[in-house]
Amino acid sequence: MAQIQTVRGPIDSEQLGTTLMHEHVFVLDKEISQNYPENWGVEEKRVADAVARLNELKSRGVDTIVDLTVIGLGRYIPRIQRIAEQTRIQIIVAAGIYTYNDVPFFFHYRGPGTVLGGPELITEMFVSDIERGIADTGVRAGILKCATDEPGITPGVERILRATAQAHRRTGVPISTHTYALRRVGLEQQRIFREEGVDLSRVVIIIGHSGDTTDLDYLEELISHGSYLGMDRFGIDSILSFEDRANTVAAMCARGYAERMVLSHDAACYMHHLPERELPALLPRWHYLHIHNDVLPALKQKGVSDEQVQTMLIENPRKIFERQGAY
Ligand SMILES: [Zn+2]
Repeated sequence: MAQIQTVRGPIDSEQLGTTLMHEHVFVLDKEISQNYPENWGVEEKRVADAVARLNELKSRGVDTIVDLTVIGLGRYIPRIQRIAEQTRIQIIVAAGIYTYNDVPFFFHYRGPGTVLGGPELITEMFVSDIERGIADTGVRAGILKCATDEPGITPGVERILRATAQAHRRTGVPISTHTYALRRVGLEQQRIFREEGVDLSRVVIIIGHSGDTTDLDYLEELISHGSYLGMDRFGIDSILSFEDRANTVAAMCARGYAERMVLSHDAACYMHHLPERELPALLPRWHYLHIHNDVLPALKQKGVSDEQVQTMLIENPRKIFERQGAY
């Protein structure tokens, strides 16, 4: 057993239960919502809507979600605390910075390789989130998150990946990544983590959005280097169809890799960068319940056993968090 930090405080790993490893509650741009508040609307309504959605998810048997909303995606823990107090679902929050290109301007002149130089303050911020807590909320981050998208390993992305690896080595918490799977950037992330001295064989790295591709060779290569695969965008059928996503998970299960995959949606109650009114028509199945409503029945039809489903939804998340621990 290991202790895991949730928004309501530490729990034992056995209490994690059925866990969706890559979701969001809200993704928003604070500066936009402060200056152009009409999109976000009434705070109380947003909070009530999130509570209702999470309660519904809990009623379907999900015990825990990992909210990978970090800096760049509008992380704001006091609001998540208000929501967590009103639902029985457990929420784990993350430390990290989300960018496809540059570091946030705040870090532009400070840190290694910059005009002013100095130690990597990004690492210090992540470690503080994990060990001390986020701002004055008392909530500690339970996981690290970083991103590499279509532009690949830009200087800004590389700096953040290295800071993430350093914070992982100091704290031992798992790393979960965003990738652009079609460009196989998960392998580049593994290379940088390895260069930073991360022991990939400890399997606490989740290469996220791996379910966006049907390239089984790529997926096997990621696993061979010691990572979990995040099959974590069920519902985003515009990137890859439902059939392809389900077939890929089933094929990997048939090859014996159920022990190396986790399932999730990467969904949210509100995402500022997508048109809210049109979204249900564009991506009708992109919501918290899609896995339980549609994905699990389809996987069973394709030969995935109940035991393998349990492995992906319960056992693997528990193992990922139990293997954490400082180097
Ligand atoms: Zn995400």
